Amino acid sequence: MTREQIILYLQGADDATLFALSAATKRREVGDKVYLRGLIELGNRCRKNCLYCGIRRDNKLVERYELTVDQVINAASYAYESGYGSIVIQSGEQQSERFTDYICELVTAIKELSFQKLGITLSLGEQSESTYRRWFNAGSHRYLLRIESSSPQLYSSIHPSDHLFDERLACLNTLRSTGFQVGTGVMIGLPGQTLENLADDLLFLRDLNIDMCGMGPYIEHPNAPLGASQYTIYHRFKLSLRMIALLRILMPDINIAATTALHAIDPTGREQGIAVGANVIMPNITPFELRASYELYNNKPQTDIDLSGFNVAINEWGDSKHFRKHKR
Ligand code: SAH
Ligand code: SF4
Repeated sequence: MTREQIILYLQGADDATLFALSAATKRREVGDKVYLRGLIELGNRCRKNCLYCGIRRDNKLVERYELTVDQVINAASYAYESGYGSIVIQSGEQQSERFTDYICELVTAIKELSFQKLGITLSLGEQSESTYRRWFNAGSHRYLLRIESSSPQLYSSIHPSDHLFDERLACLNTLRSTGFQVGTGVMIGLPGQTLENLADDLLFLRDLNIDMCGMGPYIEHPNAPLGASQYTIYHRFKLSLRMIALLRILMPDINIAATTALHAIDPTGREQGIAVGANVIMPNITPFELRASYELYNNKPQTDIDLSGFNVAINEWGDSKHFRKHKR
């Protein structure tokens, strides 16, 4: 598909054809199962100040927390006993010896309690190569780090000047060389973002040869300074579905998540994401009383997802087929 065709589809030229093609591609390449990753929101302390994010360092209105080892182990046991193939541990960005050790301890304990069976994905921001290596050696094997936007110019307009696009990109390359399955993604409908930017994001993801992708609508947070998107919420939702469908066609055998932000806009958002090409959902398994404190964007859903409508894979890691084929 050419850049021009991608832009036409993003404009909504022919959703019916696009969604039929992406659904057929998905069925043929990765099948119809939905893989579950139990999402543990480990903590909301963050050293960074991303302009869009509700848990940015300068937001004084949020109460900060970090889960204890026991709380994480309880959540991971729940995932294991419920037949989830894997979990994701996500948090604000912290860089310290203590934090690195803490994650090693958690990963080791979770592998043990699940007889090495639970897959572990980390999403803990930018870290040094040695930190990534320690976490990989402890037993985690996938990492999510969104590039947020592939346009260095747009990236600099949504971050303070000391958050560098090149550093984020370098981290993605380090994660790859460390041995992780690498997931990245972008936000859709950022202030100033054009359909051309979004088309370039898709081509960037393809050229980076990623294994997994999570992308979803930008949603304003009342205590974050970035401000309003020029797209309506409905338009951002539609664009997100088109982005998922187009990525499935461009990268047929990767794992694509139907993200929580889709569900924040439409209660059937995740189902719609799955229908047009996504094959992963990340049910929140954070202890209920702390979910409100991990509010990345306004009205982030806190309730559990009803899985009965999904053809879920039980006890399967659901590794990216793409990663297995290209095992480096
Ligand atoms: N601190 C880590 C992981 C937590 S943030 C990191 O930044 O990588 C996880 C993701 O939440 C970010 O990558 C960003 O894409 C998304 N996010 C943050 N604020 C958002 C908002 N206002 N709307 C939509 N997504 C948002
Ligand atoms: Fe911190 Fe991640 Fe939010 Fe940026 S997006 S402020 S790094 S939690």
